Amino acid sequence: MATIAPGDLVALADEEGGRTLVRAQGGAQKLRGVGILAGERLVGLAWGDVLTHGSKTLRLLKPGVADLTAGLARKAQIVLPKDASRILFECDVRAGSRVVEAGIGSGALTTALAWAVAPTGRVFTYEIRPDFIDWARRNLEESGLAPLVEVKEGDITKGVQERDVDAVVLDVPNPWDAVPAAREALRGDGHFCAYSPLVSQVELTHKALREHGFHDLRTLEIIERRWTVGERGSRPDHEMLGHTAWLTFARKGV
Ligand code: SAH
Repeated sequence: MATIAPGDLVALADEEGGRTLVRAQGGAQKLRGVGILAGERLVGLAWGDVLTHGSKTLRLLKPGVADLTAGLARKAQIVLPKDASRILFECDVRAGSRVVEAGIGSGALTTALAWAVAPTGRVFTYEIRPDFIDWARRNLEESGLAPLVEVKEGDITKGVQERDVDAVVLDVPNPWDAVPAAREALRGDGHFCAYSPLVSQVELTHKALREHGFHDLRTLEIIERRWTVGERGSRPDHEMLGHTAWLTFARKGV
C-alpha cells in the first residue's frame, strides 16, 4: 500500500467536503478548518486512510487539481474550479500546450493551467504587481508546479514576447485593451478567453475582439448547484454561490 512520504503534500478532506492542504513534515502548525496539527504525524500513513483529529475525521488524499486551486492561500478573488475547468476545456489546454496568462493574482488559474500543460508545456504569466508575483510563486512552489510557469512582471496590454501560443487567458480588469497583444501572441487559430465579473467588461471585450478579426465569439456563465444527499432524501444546498464571472471565448483567424 502506498504511504505518505516525508515532504509529501496531503489534502485533508473533512466530512463536509472541505479540503485543507498540509505538508507531511515539521511540528505543530495551525491549519484553517482543522486546528493544530503536526505535519510529521502524517508520514507513513496510507493514502486514503482516515486520521482522527479532535472531533474531526479527516481522509488523507493525494491533492488533485481542484484541491490545489481551491485550497491555496489567496489574496485576490481566485478563479474557482467550476470556471477553471471550463476554461481548460474550451481552450483545449493539454499536455504540451503553451499558454499566455494575465494576471497571476494568487495563482489559482495558473495552477490549473500548469497542471494541464504538464509535463512538456509552459504557462507564461504576466502580472503588474510584484507582491502578487511573490505570493503566487509561493503557492506554485508549494504545489510543485512552479517549473512549468514563467512569471513575467509586466502589463499584458503593453504587449507580450511569446509568439505562436495555443491560448491566451485573461483575468484582468480591462481585457479588451489586451486583445491586440493576444492577437500577436496567438497561433493562427489560437484560443482567447477572458474571465470578467462585469457585463460591461464583456461588451467592451466583444467589441475589441470583432475589431481585431477574432471569430466564434461566445460568452457564458457557469452556474453550479451543490446537493445534499441523505438516506432519507436529497435536496439542493440552501446556499449557493450566485455569481463569479462571465467567460468569453473566441478564436483567432488569419
Ligand atoms: N486569476 C487569478 C486572479 C487574478 S486577480 C487567480 O485565479 O488567482 C487579477 C490580477 O491581475 C491582479 O493580480 C492584478 O494585479 C493583475 N493585473 C491587473 N491588470 C493587469 C495588467 N494590465 N497586466 C498584468 N496583470 C494585471
